[in-house]
Amino acid sequence: MSVPDRLASPRSILVLGAGMAGLGAARALKDAGASVKVIEARNRIGGRTHTSHLWPDLPVDMGASWIHGTKGNPVTALARAQGLKITPTDYERSVTFDSCGQKVPFVKAAKSALKLVEKARKRVYKADADLSLQVAIEASPEWQQLSEDARRVARLAINTRIEHEYSGDWSRLSAWNFDQGVDFPGDEAVVTPGFGPILAHLAQGLDLRLGEAVRSITPRPEGVEVRTAQGIHFADHAIVTLPLGVLQSGDIRFAEPLSRKRQRAIEGLGMGLLNKCVLRFDRVFWPEDMDWIDFLGPVQTLWADWTSYLPATGHPLIVGFNAARMAEEIEELDDRDTVASAVAALRAMFGTSVPDPSGAQISRWRQDPFALGAYSFKAVGSSRKDRKALFGADWDGRLFFAGEATSADQPATVHGALITGRAAAAALITG
Ligand SMILES: Cc1cc2nc3c(=O)[nH]c(=O)nc-3n(C[C@H](O)[C@H](O)[C@H](O)COP(=O)(O)OP(=O)(O)OC[C@H]3O[C@@H](n4cnc5c(N)ncnc54)[C@H](O)[C@@H]3O)c2cc1C
Repeated sequence: MSVPDRLASPRSILVLGAGMAGLGAARALKDAGASVKVIEARNRIGGRTHTSHLWPDLPVDMGASWIHGTKGNPVTALARAQGLKITPTDYERSVTFDSCGQKVPFVKAAKSALKLVEKARKRVYKADADLSLQVAIEASPEWQQLSEDARRVARLAINTRIEHEYSGDWSRLSAWNFDQGVDFPGDEAVVTPGFGPILAHLAQGLDLRLGEAVRSITPRPEGVEVRTAQGIHFADHAIVTLPLGVLQSGDIRFAEPLSRKRQRAIEGLGMGLLNKCVLRFDRVFWPEDMDWIDFLGPVQTLWADWTSYLPATGHPLIVGFNAARMAEEIEELDDRDTVASAVAALRAMFGTSVPDPSGAQISRWRQDPFALGAYSFKAVGSSRKDRKALFGADWDGRLFFAGEATSADQPATVHGALITGRAAAAALITG
């Protein structure tokens, strides 16, 4: 959205959180002449867009890495302006192996499984209440008629095409509403060397207070007071871009209740999980022309999805993903056991000659106290309305909410976060 370029009246604004939403808001407000301070708990900017520089020659994104739909997407414009390489990936360039290393014809099977999901959902649209996707699917005659083998393949499709995308377990995703949203057209594309330069660009010249975790927010007659371990900040308004997981945890004390519909939305939406295990090798042993490798192992949700970063980086780099319940389990393992489990999956697919990786980086977004999950999803009983209720003003306009979970149409994305941040800024500039 376009943000008006001047403030209606001089105003001071605290932006809580220096992820894409917070920095998008702060940039627009500063450019419009507001006095802006950004309060961020971590010692870095970016939040869930985090480009790791642990390997100086090979930066990797441990959070978001795709632009979902490059056409008309404001993140594409930012990526182009920073000269980032934008490499499309395509599910058509995918291959699936079983645990004996045999290819499984999965692309067509995945399409039929997703058709089965749609039929199962249609049957429950008229039910009195929303159900979980798992209950809706398992109750459907289409599922019940499948052979055991066909169910394993269908479960792999549900895991890789739904649970990985929405980050919620099928036992928690709303059968009615889990996929509500509006996609940008164009490619799915990864950016290299990562999202980092975009965040750094947005943050240029801002008053950033890093390493300050917000503890409480209190309305005052002339604005709002924010307390951190380091001190107290006052401003006319505060924009809260903290992740849904943090809002749900109760770690932040709101001195007065939030509106009932906002509180209901915080409680009703789900905070899901997606984790990455980024493995670096000395040579490529997987098919070089593929973007996606799916694994139909003995447990269909374990290391089910892999992306080759060879096309985007030119390095033998591959990323294994786990989502939802399986990601929660794997997050409990230490680094050594996580890598051993991931490499075992690769050896099942590509043989015992698969070497040990020369490096590994692992995300654990649930254990991260400033995320408490990967991104939000529509849990049973929640809908787009909850996201609309979460976005916007509270406490007579002294408080404003933005961030991915508040995006009615583009939740769980980098562009959704940016769009809500800019929309919050626009509302304060014109308001
Ligand atoms: C593994 C993973 C993969 C993903 N893949 C993609 C993808 O490919 N494409 C895509 O579009 N999206 C993807 N996403 C989602 C995307 O990263 C998020 O939707 C987006 O980055 C959220 O931005 P935000 O500004 O709303 O929140 P955040 O980036 O989380 O920003 C909120 C900020 O608040 C800070 N904070 C938290 N608590 C406090 C506190 N008490 N006081 C002060 N500050 C605090 C946090 O540290 C953080 O910096 C992925 C996310 C994950 C985790």
